[in-house]
Amino acid sequence: VELKEDPNSRKTNITFKDVAGLDEVIDELKVIIDFMTNTEKYNKMGAKIPKGILFYGPPGTGKTLLATALAGETNSTFISASGSEFVEKYVGVGASRIRALFAKAKKSAPSIIFIDEIDAVGTKRNTDNNSEKDQTLNQLLVEMDGFNSNEGIIVIGATNRLDMLDEALLRPGRFDRTIHIGNPNMKARLEILKVHTRNKPLDESVSLSELARKTHGMTGAHLATMCNEAAILAVMRNKNKIGKEEFDEALERVIAGLKKKYPSVL
Ligand code: ATP
Repeated sequence: VELKEDPNSRKTNITFKDVAGLDEVIDELKVIIDFMTNTEKYNKMGAKIPKGILFYGPPGTGKTLLATALAGETNSTFISASGSEFVEKYVGVGASRIRALFAKAKKSAPSIIFIDEIDAVGTKRNTDNNSEKDQTLNQLLVEMDGFNSNEGIIVIGATNRLDMLDEALLRPGRFDRTIHIGNPNMKARLEILKVHTRNKPLDESVSLSELARKTHGMTGAHLATMCNEAAILAVMRNKNKIGKEEFDEALERVIAGLKKKYPSVL
């Protein structure tokens, strides 16, 4: 298969301007960009580039988006996989998929490997070390140790459960940088709403700050869904701009969805 036809391996034009409310995290990542783009400078100084970064925090807060934007900013190939893809019934299959993933990254370097739900392979190992999951995790550790960061590869893992990960994954030279990505506060929600209404016509009844106030507890993913629902409602109503009514209704729908999913929380 041609790499460029592989949806899990591609160049992206998503950049930090598509990511809102995560300025502090982006600041932490600036040094990685410098590493990726001025590798020579660091090599000359004998400085080691971090190989692995772990994003942790609740779902829908922009971990995948941020990893994609990092690839876009550094013009790297974005190679994504989900930890659950490696968990197989047959011993050895997960490990060979991990090998293939890193081989692909080397071939298309500079590249960013993104492993979502890394906990699916990365939870603490059993003592016997023989299960399929443990073999897969061992292979991941072998691959992490086996490449040199100056080869232009960075591995980003994402999880909601940092506490469940095997400590071996977090050792120096592996995922030794952990970055927390939490739910957005009001200011961040406003920034996210701005990004997701950037190319949508809004009428003057819409107040994004009011929407930011009313969406406490929502993630970027919820806000993106709300904006899209509002746009769809406006189309269905033959409007030429999205109004407050559409946003209020879209907000109700997102809240209804949340109530269904987490009845005890809301
Ligand atoms: P999961 O743990 O479920 O994989 P995640 O943290 O990786 O979630 P994303 O997949 O990055 O979340 O977010 C889903 C979508 O929500 C994004 O594609 C984007 O549209 C929107 N979104 C989330 N966070 C942000 C943000 N900080 N700025 C702008 N959009 C965001």
